[in-house]
Amino acid sequence: MSSQPLLIDNIAFAKRGEHLAGTLSLADCPRLAELLASQAPADSSATGHKDDLQGSSINFTLDGETNAAGQHFLHLALSGTLITYCQRCLEQMPFKLDLDFNYLVSNANIDNADAAGLEDSDDYDLQEASQNMDLLALIEDEVIMATPIAPLHAGNCAHGAMQSGEKPNPFAALKGLIKS
Ligand SMILES: [Zn+2]
Repeated sequence: MSSQPLLIDNIAFAKRGEHLAGTLSLADCPRLAELLASQAPADSSATGHKDDLQGSSINFTLDGETNAAGQHFLHLALSGTLITYCQRCLEQMPFKLDLDFNYLVSNANIDNADAAGLEDSDDYDLQEASQNMDLLALIEDEVIMATPIAPLHAGNCAHGAMQSGEKPNPFAALKGLIKS
């Protein structure tokens, strides 16, 4: 996919019940790429990052809906994998994305949402009506907010567990000596 912005007329999209799906790479999401790069161990910067950029991808689907009351909604679903690094052992740690968002598109100025009787609820977030809503920026924002600042393996790091749990067999070293 190109790194052109994805601009959407969000009211028209909802009215027509449109559907859009695609896949983004980190090349489309420079701020997210920077965040992930900042978590990578320094010694992988020369060659490792290029592979990591290709290892991370974000699939999205966007569905528009207008309900019987004439309210316009956008449903955004994100899935995919980000390559992050455990900040304890610095091993690569894929982070699975599985996110769903519901937005109520409103003509009301969001700053005056309370006055207009529209409040953020648990069911949906407010999204300002726009003829050119930047979908790519929205997706990138949501993914950045979902990405752990300091990812850590749950429980023990595999690396650490091996060091403490499995002592190297002393005879293995001898065997090596005998062979040579
Ligand atoms: Zn770890």
